Amino acid sequence: MLEPDNDQVNFFELNQAAMREYFTGMAESPFRAAQIMKWMYHSGVTNVDGMTNLSKVLRQQLKQTIRFDLPEIVTEQISTDGTIKWLLRVDDRNCIESVFIPEPDRGTLCISSQVGCALDCSFCATGKQGFNRNLSVAEIIGQLWLANQRLGYFEGERRRIITNVVMMGMGEPLLNFDNVLAAIELMTDDLGFNLARKRVTLSTSGVVPGIYKLAAASNISLAISLHAPTDALRDILVPINRKYPIRELMAACKNYAEQHRGDSITFEYVMLQDVNDSAEMARQLCACLRGIPAKINLIPFNPFPGSGYTRPAMVTIDRFRDILIDAGYITITRKTRGDDIDAACGQLVGQVLPRAQRLQKQLLENRV
Ligand code: SAH
Ligand code: SF4
Repeated sequence: MLEPDNDQVNFFELNQAAMREYFTGMAESPFRAAQIMKWMYHSGVTNVDGMTNLSKVLRQQLKQTIRFDLPEIVTEQISTDGTIKWLLRVDDRNCIESVFIPEPDRGTLCISSQVGCALDCSFCATGKQGFNRNLSVAEIIGQLWLANQRLGYFEGERRRIITNVVMMGMGEPLLNFDNVLAAIELMTDDLGFNLARKRVTLSTSGVVPGIYKLAAASNISLAISLHAPTDALRDILVPINRKYPIRELMAACKNYAEQHRGDSITFEYVMLQDVNDSAEMARQLCACLRGIPAKINLIPFNPFPGSGYTRPAMVTIDRFRDILIDAGYITITRKTRGDDIDAACGQLVGQVLPRAQRLQKQLLENRV
C-alpha cells in the first residue's frame, strides 16, 4: 500500500526523465534508470535485491532511499463474459477500480485517474459519490502494472494480454494533468510498458484548456464525452459545459486533430431514453461534429440506483446509429461488458470518502 509519509522515493512515481535525474543527482550514471525500469516494467521485479545487474554497494544504498509502492488488490471479480474488475486500495480510506475487458482481437484495461470525480455528470455513478483526491503517478501506472501481473505478463515471454489502455474509469483525467501525463509516458515508453500511443486513449468530459495542453504534450488517442448536441441539454447532463460550451470544445478538438495529422477523435454519447435519443438529436449531433474527423461511440446507459434515467430500447439506439452512419460517421454501439459485476461504463465507484465527509470525520476524530 502507498505510504505518503515515508521519506523514501517511490520509484513508481517517476517517469524515465525523472528517474534519470534522480541518478544524476546522486552522481550515478543516468543509465541506471534504464536498468531499473527494465526490472520494474519488463520483469515485474519490485525489490532492489532482485535487481542483480546493479552492484551490491549501489543496491545497499538504494535500499535506504527508494521504495516500490503500489496500490493493494482488495478484490478481484470475474464476470461471466470474462471481464475482470479489481478493487484497489490506495490509502486507508479510499479504493479505486480498474477493469479488464477481453475481446477476440484485443484486451483493454480501463483505468481510473482520480478518487471519485468532482464534475457531477447527472448520469454517472462516479460523479454521484463526490471527489476525494487525485491519484498519484504510482497509483495510475500501478493499475496497469498490477493488471499485467495478474494476467501473467511478467512471466516468460511478456505475452501482451493488455493491448489497449483507456482512461475511462473513475475521475476526470485532464483535471489531474501532470500525474496522468507522467503515467502515460510510462505506458508508452519502451522501457516502460511500450504500448503504441494510439492504443492509449484519454477520455474527457470536455476540460478545454487540458485538451490544448494534451495536444502539445502527447499524441495519444482522444475521446470526448459529448452526450448532447446542444448547450441547453449538455449544460444539464455534463455541467462542465457551462464553463466550456460546445463551440469552445469543438475548437479544441479541431486543434487536437490538426496537431495529430487528422487522426479521428472518438465522441462518446450515452443513450438516455427520451432525453437525448431522438432522431432530431441525431441530426443535431451530425451538425455539431461537422468539420471534425470523428468516430462516434454510442453507450447504452448503464443504470444504477436512483439515477432517474433509463436505457432506450435497442430499436431506438439502432435508429439513432443509422442516422449517424448515413451521414458518414463511423458509429458503433458499445457493448455492455461486465454488468453482472458492476464493471460497465459509469458504474465504477470504488470506495470513496468525499472530501466534505472526510473532513467531517477527521473533525469528529479530532484529527484537524
Ligand atoms: N471523466 C471522463 C472519463 C471517465 S467516464 C469522462 O467523463 O470522459 C467514461 C465514460 O463513461 C464517459 O463517456 C462517461 O460519460 C460514460 N458514463 C458515465 N456514466 C455512465 C453510465 N451510467 N452509463 C453509460 N456510460 C456512462
Ligand atoms: Fe466525472 Fe466522467 Fe463521471 Fe462526468 S462522466 S462525473 S467527468 S467520471
